[in-house]
Amino acid sequence: MSIKQNLLNIKSALPEHVTLVAVSKTKPISDLMEAYDAGQRIFGENKIQEMAEKWEAMPKDIEWHMIGHVQTNKVKFMAPFVSLIHGVDSFKLLEEINKQAQKNNRIIDCLLQVHIAEEETKYGLDENELNEILSSVTFQEMKNIRIVGLMGMATFTDNQEQIKKEFTHLKTIFDTTNQLLTSNFQLLTLSMGMSGDYKLAIECGSTMVRIGSSIFGGRI
Ligand SMILES: *Cc1c(COP(=O)(O)O)cnc(C)c1O
Repeated sequence: MSIKQNLLNIKSALPEHVTLVAVSKTKPISDLMEAYDAGQRIFGENKIQEMAEKWEAMPKDIEWHMIGHVQTNKVKFMAPFVSLIHGVDSFKLLEEINKQAQKNNRIIDCLLQVHIAEEETKYGLDENELNEILSSVTFQEMKNIRIVGLMGMATFTDNQEQIKKEFTHLKTIFDTTNQLLTSNFQLLTLSMGMSGDYKLAIECGSTMVRIGSSIFGGRI
């Protein structure tokens, strides 16, 4: 099936409150343009260099999401244009994003990545580190970032029960964190779910899914 048809099929099946990030990493601009022409305006990339090249070449009404692990020294290359950074997993990174956002006279939206998978290899904060960041004075004084939600990745497994357990865990953290926050600062976005598990993620409370291969086909 075509990229356009894949995209329209997925979009028509998503509940209205769920935002679709079309994950276009490794794919050529012609593929992204096919999705763009079918109406898609939010694209996710996992390498800053690649995202910047695509941003330069493509229409300027696209929202670019950084979904991969971010190295502090590369934040400056996306600070002028990135619209949401999903994988913020340290205080140091948050400080750098704030600094670069300030230089560009912007406020950059971020999601804090929480470690929910069994695998050690996946990045993310644990619940204590999350609370430490949100309650710290230094964070509250950062004027050029806005934390709008949480992101998580489940273990790479076929075991649906385990994936469900991990997504439910993240949703619980999301809800309890919101109870601790004030009414004028709430987490709104819960980014969880990819091609293989997004339906389950939505059942568990996801509001943003990151889908690549089901739209653009497999990656080499
Ligand atoms: C690649 C990637 C996705 C998309 O994965 P698919 O299985 O192709 O849908 C989602 N989230 C992150 C963080 C990724 O790196």
